[in-house]
Amino acid sequence: MTNLPVATTHLTHIADNWRALAALQSDAKTGAVVKANAYGHGSSAVAGALARAGCRSFFVAHVLEGVSLRAALGPEPEIFVFHGFGSGEIPLIREARLIPVLNTLQQVGQWREANDNLPAAIHIDTGMNRLGLRPEEAGEARDQLAECQINLVMSHLTCADEPGHDLNQKQLSAFTELASLWPGTKRSLANTAGTYLGADYGFELTRPGIGLYGGGPTPPAGTHLKPGLTLTAPVLSVFEALPGETSGYGATYMLDTPRTLATVAFGYADGYPRAAANSGFAMLRETRLPVVGRVSMGLTTLDITETRDDIEVGSMVEFLGGHAHLEEQAIAAGTLGYELVTGLGHRVERIIEN
Ligand SMILES: *Cc1c(COP(=O)(O)O)cnc(C)c1O
Repeated sequence: MTNLPVATTHLTHIADNWRALAALQSDAKTGAVVKANAYGHGSSAVAGALARAGCRSFFVAHVLEGVSLRAALGPEPEIFVFHGFGSGEIPLIREARLIPVLNTLQQVGQWREANDNLPAAIHIDTGMNRLGLRPEEAGEARDQLAECQINLVMSHLTCADEPGHDLNQKQLSAFTELASLWPGTKRSLANTAGTYLGADYGFELTRPGIGLYGGGPTPPAGTHLKPGLTLTAPVLSVFEALPGETSGYGATYMLDTPRTLATVAFGYADGYPRAAANSGFAMLRETRLPVVGRVSMGLTTLDITETRDDIEVGSMVEFLGGHAHLEEQAIAAGTLGYELVTGLGHRVERIIEN
């Protein structure tokens, strides 16, 4: 038994979440975004489990992520690379049979020059103003790529987590119009939150990420997502502290009554944000154990007075999972579920569970 924090990935939960998201867009195929090591959950294992569940289209950000995914998945599934390619990466794309997403006219030109009739995807920016061809460049891209095989046209929603936001409808119309430059080609617009906006947003392929891992905005009534991972940390020390004493660096928390405190091995070097000082929490089953004082590099102190009889040195408490909900912990730590799961540190012990 080590003293490390432990992240246990739940492959069956992730496959169940994929099926639940697929059921919301039954006219579309449902892909899976597994960039950034499947949002910190372990991309080979996650993609393997999703392929067994029936997923045929995967998305990563970088060519190298795609190369290792291809090794894990074998020849069948489509692997799209959101960032396209860097100079010199076309041979890797060819070798691993990745599908680059072309985001600029420069990438369009390079792809056309390299054309050996491998498929590519087109990303048109319809309002995010981040990555993708500008709408006014789409016609030129279409002309330049006339001899190339384009098998997906995509765009990305800016405010999908705000169903009433104007931009959703605007981007939907702009995308529908621009995608018609490639008639008959598969289209993809929706991330996780986009799949909650209704059937209009599904097109032929959806691209959920965070929902697969149990996070993101609250899904529609009747859809329940399960945690993609459970993060637990071991208790290193349990002690009584007295009124007037403080906890942690800077003495930012002062006790007003006698409390039982426990210090656990989980800190900002492990991915627990320092902004969780005096606002984050761990769970012991149903009981919430508030963070008292600042988060240190590898340590966090909790008030365990409520459950003092159930916790001793070596006990594990939960920071993420079925009791400590990802988005609730994220709010308490001043961030988003995305950042928490992708930010877990290298020394967090990893377990992959079915
Ligand atoms: C990351 C990403 C997604 C997935 O978004 P979620 O909000 O995690 O579902 C979809 N499309 C693009 C272009 C992305 O970068």
